Amino acid sequence: MAAGTPNTTPLLSVRDLIVRFYTLRGVVHALEGVSFDVGREQSIGLVGETGCGKSITARSVLRLIDPPGRIDGGSIAFQGRDLIQLPETEMRAIRGADISMIMQEPKMSLNPVMRIGDQVAETLLIHDKSLNRRTARAQALDMLASVSIPDPKRLARRYPHELSGGMAQRIMIAMMLVTRPKLLIADEPTSALDVTIQAQIIELMNALIDDIQSSVLMISHDLGVVAETCDRVIVMYAGQVAEAGDVETVMSDPQHPYTAALLKTLPDQVDADEPLYSIKGNVPSLLTPPTGCRFAPRCEHAMARCHNERPRAIPLTADHQVACFLHDAAPEPAAEPAAVPA
Ligand code: SF4
Repeated sequence: MAAGTPNTTPLLSVRDLIVRFYTLRGVVHALEGVSFDVGREQSIGLVGETGCGKSITARSVLRLIDPPGRIDGGSIAFQGRDLIQLPETEMRAIRGADISMIMQEPKMSLNPVMRIGDQVAETLLIHDKSLNRRTARAQALDMLASVSIPDPKRLARRYPHELSGGMAQRIMIAMMLVTRPKLLIADEPTSALDVTIQAQIIELMNALIDDIQSSVLMISHDLGVVAETCDRVIVMYAGQVAEAGDVETVMSDPQHPYTAALLKTLPDQVDADEPLYSIKGNVPSLLTPPTGCRFAPRCEHAMARCHNERPRAIPLTADHQVACFLHDAAPEPAAEPAAVPA
């Protein structure tokens, strides 16, 4: 690339990802043809109900799908290299250094028998062989200070069981960002915390991510958190992408019936004296998913073809796609005008 030319290649490009679990009860079709990009320094929110495939998508990016699960198709290009094809030794070097992941339950991810300071320093030592232990410990203390821990030296001597949930999540954020990863995956990072701590953790994460200029893949069932944190949103349903676009457009003018229904379930969308809205029916079993659109059994707009054909992703604009037959006649994005006959 010529000097000064901006790099417009996405940092992460997932195409037609297929993940299945081969269980004794049958094959679970967990992800079927999932595609999306994460640009450089961009924050993407993956939203949807429990079981829609958000966490499996994130774990696939790090190639952490355990048997009986298997990535059965597609590609996951990170900085131009397909992670699915890499040898495990190269994947190990990428995990934690170039791509980090913050889990829902920070205490489950921390080593219970290792002091906090040593755990943060260890992360640095694993990924930077040129560091000595003294420098790593000093950098670990700096990182603990940057996640607003009042007395980092004292806390560095503590063990995970001595920490509150909010403090443990701050430590996880310090550990995951200390290597300055290019991509941070945050899997429901605040769902185990109470509401006041949630806001502090989100604010802290946003500030640090801005500082180190990471891209973010934020997984959440909470559209409010995604609206506050992300540039773009990908709405998933039953292992497929239903709608994707910039947060403001999708939140203010959803085009997929599932996105619209999901937004109606938000408590601030109903008057205090009205019952909360819930989407009728249940998420389908992915052992025997519907053959056509997976949302068809719950969709108020379902047509005959919805039960037989799978809708493809239709671009409404260059930055807004929806997989729904209601938009099948939508014009192509302006960037690719149709040829006009002479
Ligand atoms: Fe509803 Fe059909 Fe659109 Fe699926 S494709 S969301 S069933 S209208």
